[in-house]
Amino acid sequence: MSYDLLLKDGHVIDPASGRDGVADVAFKDGKVAQVADGISGADAKDVRSAAGFYVVPGLIDLHAHVYVGGTTYGVEPDQLGRMSGTTTVVDAGSAGAANIRGLIDHQQRLTDVRILAFVNLAFPGIYGDLRAVHIAEASDLHLLNVPHVVRTLKKWPDSVVGIKIRIGRSSTAALGAMPLHLAIAASEQAGNAPVMAHIGADMPPRLEDILDPLRKGDIVTHCYTPKMNKPLDTKGKLRDCMVAGRERGVIMDVGHGAGSFGFDVCRTMLELGFTPDVISSDVHLYSADGPAYDVLVTMSKFLCLGLPLVDVIRAATSAPAAAMRRTDIGSLKVGAAGDAVLLEIKKGPVVYVDAIGQEMRADQRLVPRGVVLGGKWWSDGMPPALGGKK
Ligand SMILES: [Zn+2]
Repeated sequence: MSYDLLLKDGHVIDPASGRDGVADVAFKDGKVAQVADGISGADAKDVRSAAGFYVVPGLIDLHAHVYVGGTTYGVEPDQLGRMSGTTTVVDAGSAGAANIRGLIDHQQRLTDVRILAFVNLAFPGIYGDLRAVHIAEASDLHLLNVPHVVRTLKKWPDSVVGIKIRIGRSSTAALGAMPLHLAIAASEQAGNAPVMAHIGADMPPRLEDILDPLRKGDIVTHCYTPKMNKPLDTKGKLRDCMVAGRERGVIMDVGHGAGSFGFDVCRTMLELGFTPDVISSDVHLYSADGPAYDVLVTMSKFLCLGLPLVDVIRAATSAPAAAMRRTDIGSLKVGAAGDAVLLEIKKGPVVYVDAIGQEMRADQRLVPRGVVLGGKWWSDGMPPALGGKK
């Protein structure tokens, strides 16, 4: 058998299969073809040494904004992929039923990395989230059209993975949490596709109004928010709705963004055992140059906060794949999509900043050393967005 690409001697971490050790990974016809010791280089057209690096499945950023051209809020997906090893970018609600075709059809053609999407319940998506022009996209009932969302999910089942709704005063205004119930109704009409709900920075609605309606398999994003609707009470205890949500099987997603992740909140929650299910960046116009940067920088923060490497990798590979109910990505199992990233843990001083300007001085960061996409070597990896400094 001849392979298209062979990665030799890397330390493979593949949480989906439980593999954690040195092995070779071979790709053929766009897919993972074999993972084993001592695969002969004579059988491959392209042989690359991965010695000294970790080899992990291509990263999945479950919450990003990449609708360049369709909104003014998105960032360029291929550049994001090269800097962070993200091979699947999931756009979380930039587009609604009105304009999602431009994202999944037109933009995917211009882009190498895979683009998946949560369709916004709001018909036009997040079309006016700028400092100069801010429009609460889910505040007008005329724009919350359930049949259009259901049709979108049915029309593009390979690309549209669920429904996004931002719940908070700046998105739903006087409608409060009511749009979340419409999103769940749409989901029920479309095979129970997952609903991703965002915790708004401001009240109303309260955190309980956002968490309590969510079902097993739904996703709450911004789960470590340091803002008004924080997951901890005034005594530093986890709020009951967070505990009940986790017990019910609601997926807890980081969604760092520009305003939605705090080190102090996160540290306390990790001490209480409340680890994230999914690590995502919420990268967009206002977070791409910091504080979020991308999913790899967000993963580095969790590594420095003490989460074990394998859990950090799981939270950006098999866990987001499972959240989208996808079995073809997020693992290095034979037959899975041929997406992988070579990572190095670089030692040296680095200063991380959270979404409220707090700094964390640390001494390690994850750096991409190569990206495999569709079974071929795609990129040597661009320097990470957040380099070592200070
Ligand atoms: Zn977002």
